[in-house]
Amino acid sequence: MATKKIAKTASRPAKTTNKRAAKKTAGKRTPRGGMPADDIVVMFERLRELNPKPQTELEYSTPFELLVAVVLSAQATDVGVNKATRRLYPVANTPQAIAALGVDTLKSYISTIGLFNTKAANVIALCEQLIEKHGGDVPRDREALESLPGVGRKTANVVLNTAFGEPTMAVDTHIFRVANRTGLAPGANVLAVERALLDRVPAEFLQDAHHWLILHGRYTCKARKPECWRCPIRDVCRFKDKTDHGE
Ligand code: SF4
Repeated sequence: MATKKIAKTASRPAKTTNKRAAKKTAGKRTPRGGMPADDIVVMFERLRELNPKPQTELEYSTPFELLVAVVLSAQATDVGVNKATRRLYPVANTPQAIAALGVDTLKSYISTIGLFNTKAANVIALCEQLIEKHGGDVPRDREALESLPGVGRKTANVVLNTAFGEPTMAVDTHIFRVANRTGLAPGANVLAVERALLDRVPAEFLQDAHHWLILHGRYTCKARKPECWRCPIRDVCRFKDKTDHGE
């Protein structure tokens, strides 16, 4: 699935603030060293301008395909998962069809993905549970999703957000890093960051914030060396050790 990468800062818009969104976040406490509410609005306006309709990089065409792809993506890259699902989904892309493959055949499709033995067993058990308890449909319900084999809070959040349009926030390694570095939503653990993001990101940006933050972390605010010199939100970011080009 094509996704626009956040690239350059040359055409960065001026630091003007969406007054309506800013008003909604005004009055909320700014955490120590955190990004003020006005700057949060500026940050998301910039990310939205660069990529108005952010998408997951996992390829899928139904909520079920997305659910399986996200389960397979734990500790694996989206590119690697897409390679496997491009072979699997034309053959089997429903709970019934994948359950009928059985664990060993499923393994042969996903053997290039890390932890494929465990993932194959989980996906088969997940398919069986979807058939038994949900008529073969993916439930639009956190508790029901989290009760499925191999599905944790993060996966449930991704499915609720991306397949069903719910304003949930799945915090992965990229979002955790970006939220802390920038001061957007500092937190000591994943759940603290998730709660801070839900509290601090204005409602109008919440639906897409998950993808903007992942893509920003993946392509600009990288783990080892953030590319601050070309970062579109450099002026509002609170990170103290920003990098300069050529360092
Ligand atoms: S300025 Fe640097 S640390 Fe801050 S968000 Fe941009 S890339 Fe990340």
